[in-house]
Amino acid sequence: MLLLAFVSPSFAASSKSKKEKAKPAALGAWRVVKIGSHDYLTVGNIAEFYGLPANVQPVEKRIHLENEKGVLEFTLGSREMQINGVRNWLSFPVLEKDGQFLVSRMDLAETIEPQMRPQLITHIGKVKTVIIDPGHGGYDKGAISRFGCEKDYTLDVARQLRPLLQARGFKVLMTREGDYFVPLEVRARIANAVPDAIFVSVHFNAADINPSAAGFEIYSLTPRGAPSTHDDLMKANADNTQAGTAVDTHSIELSSCIYHSLLGHVGEFDRGMKRARFAVLRQTKLPSVLIEGGFLTEGGESKLIANKEWRGKLAQAISVGIDNYKSLADSKLQPLLVRDYTRKEPLTTDSKVASPDTGTPASPESIPAPSSSSSSHPPIDLTTAPIIP
Ligand SMILES: [Zn+2]
Repeated sequence: MLLLAFVSPSFAASSKSKKEKAKPAALGAWRVVKIGSHDYLTVGNIAEFYGLPANVQPVEKRIHLENEKGVLEFTLGSREMQINGVRNWLSFPVLEKDGQFLVSRMDLAETIEPQMRPQLITHIGKVKTVIIDPGHGGYDKGAISRFGCEKDYTLDVARQLRPLLQARGFKVLMTREGDYFVPLEVRARIANAVPDAIFVSVHFNAADINPSAAGFEIYSLTPRGAPSTHDDLMKANADNTQAGTAVDTHSIELSSCIYHSLLGHVGEFDRGMKRARFAVLRQTKLPSVLIEGGFLTEGGESKLIANKEWRGKLAQAISVGIDNYKSLADSKLQPLLVRDYTRKEPLTTDSKVASPDTGTPASPESIPAPSSSSSSHPPIDLTTAPIIP
């Protein structure tokens, strides 16, 4: 868990005398604000730490921070935020105290930090094998549209994804190869038996009530002690803010890599990066995500999903995202963001040079600046990351 390591020094600082606390903090120091038993950081403090614009005032309950280091947008009272151009769902809503917006320390550590500085994620293992998990199968048809069943679409995406990943040098294992049901715990067991692997579950969505619900979403495991995205806000006030596991940050970054590629290539509505305790996420011990590739209950999307070529685009976007995660894990290369995929002009070399791993967690006083770090790693070559027309 990243933040505990680099917040601790300022914890010490904040427990010193009032006189010392009153001094302006050193640039980049964390100043933890206690609300009940919860730890929060001010948005001003977060901006300062990441080198984002300082003293930005809210406009209609929103604070938008943006420069070349990244984009963060917070909304008062909301768990919804924007990180680098995509929607994210926090565990706890943004609060206000003394005119300052406050973000929970858990959300900073588990959701914001891994995406703002992916090269500093610790113990990120090499990726050799991708376990593709086509959702449902056999008697379990999954969601149904007037064109077909989720179980068939997920299997087809997996079958199209496999050779794309193999062409990029991955070993690929599928939790099912045909139209039969595999219990969820067996899927997890298959995944847990493979070293140096990641787990990618593919599903399509369905809405019970709202037939116009559409778009992509992606899930990784809810951090321990936090509410899932679809839990109500009463649960969001739960007292337990115990931190998650080391692999949580790997999973959220895997989510980010795949999700940015999905939105950058296919461009359906952005429903966001979410958290859930789905069995396949809970029972797998490796970086794991679950993709919801559109709604079978929405007219336009159900037609797209029924189209094999469109499912091929989806598979290709997933493969690019996975490859970005591998480049991060293997070589500390900065993953591409949705704006990198969609921008027309060629990328400058600077913006894509990887930062070296310093091997030490950031201390508040020595914040590595990803954009100014020198590196011997080559920039990501966009020609090897095919843009899907
Ligand atoms: Zn499903």
